[in-house]
Amino acid sequence: MFDYDNLDVSELRRKFKAHVNEGLFSLIAFMGLDEAEVEASGWIVRDAKGREFIDCLGGYGVFNFGHSHPKIVSAVEAQLKRQPLSSKLLISPPMVALAEKLAEITPGSLEKCFFCNSGTEAVEAALKLARLSNGRKRIIFASRAFHGKTLGSLSASDRDRHRAPFDPLLGKFEVVPFGDEDAMRAAVDGETCAVILEPVQGEGGIFPAPDGYLACAREACDEYGAMLIFDEVQSGMGRTGTNFACEYDGVSPDLMCLAKALGGGVMPIGAVIGTPEVWKAFEENPLIHTSTFGGNPLACAAALAACEVLVDERLAENARMRGAEFLAGLEKLKREFPTLVRDVRGRGLMIGIDLKSSDIAELFIAMMVELGVFVAFALNKPDIIRIEPPLTITTEVVDEVLARIKTALGHVAEVMKQLEE
Ligand code: PLP
Repeated sequence: MFDYDNLDVSELRRKFKAHVNEGLFSLIAFMGLDEAEVEASGWIVRDAKGREFIDCLGGYGVFNFGHSHPKIVSAVEAQLKRQPLSSKLLISPPMVALAEKLAEITPGSLEKCFFCNSGTEAVEAALKLARLSNGRKRIIFASRAFHGKTLGSLSASDRDRHRAPFDPLLGKFEVVPFGDEDAMRAAVDGETCAVILEPVQGEGGIFPAPDGYLACAREACDEYGAMLIFDEVQSGMGRTGTNFACEYDGVSPDLMCLAKALGGGVMPIGAVIGTPEVWKAFEENPLIHTSTFGGNPLACAAALAACEVLVDERLAENARMRGAEFLAGLEKLKREFPTLVRDVRGRGLMIGIDLKSSDIAELFIAMMVELGVFVAFALNKPDIIRIEPPLTITTEVVDEVLARIKTALGHVAEVMKQLEE
């Protein structure tokens, strides 16, 4: 077992470089993130020196419920004592309970679940189930999209830097401009297997789908018998002010991908939930797609408790209200720092600060870390900062973070001025 009481941080850094990844170490060290984290609760993360950070990155969208939510931790503890992993032969009660709960809280006629362990696996499963259900191959995805980094999900993601070294990726994946209804209508035809979209793009830089766009995709898919897949790995579980982001537009998909916050910030889990229609072919051949650890009792206990907390603590509503306060404050800062901030936007507590360059973004992140707040850039757009705190945060925390953002922008403005002189 790791001995936290005798933690030697300089040794930890050396071993990280020696046995994990030296390039990654340089990246985190530049942003002042080469400290050891030792504990976390709610929206606070503590390092080995006892410094506290307000977590406005939320583990890239994992900590909707905060760190170590007590109800989710106790559900996992109880399951750990009873049966951590299942035999995989008998029926696992927590897995079935979670499937029923997801059928209850997701929109439309999403009723059947497949469980895996991460977001990219959920996307892989959705792509395969779509191909299985209508026998077609062509997949339409959106510009700026991020769906994961395994070969299938990467084939539906739009960043050359991540794709190029692995060419050729899967065939018959075609990109359309996100938000362009005419392009969507023109792209979908009788050979289209599926359209995959994030209702609010995350790693692309926090872009909510324009009003009417998801409905347009739904209509085009219905016309040609194509599947509509919503990737709610990042936007789901209350993050955007509704339990699932697609509810904002009143559009439901044939398949929905979930992961990240689904495990309540305590266990990793991914899921695909689909309509009975999509599941038909899968039910004829149930072993065609499987996962050893998918649906394990510990992860399902965490996710079931997370779904309950989401509803009982009305976290989507809090995300909506705190998100509005955050955005109003950021709008003011955008006016105050026009040379640094290009735009601010978001939905609920999925917020982006669009900065004028990736250099400004790196400096800003380093300043924020110095000021005790975690933020990060979007993976496909390194000039855009994403703000994704726990949905449990209060108005006081929002105000405190806004004050620190103002200080950080002030410092960055000074540095940029000095660099220009
Ligand atoms: N889909 C979306 C929308 C995501 O934001 C991510 C990760 O950021 C993924 C899929 C991949 O999830 P994971 O990193 O768990 O594989």
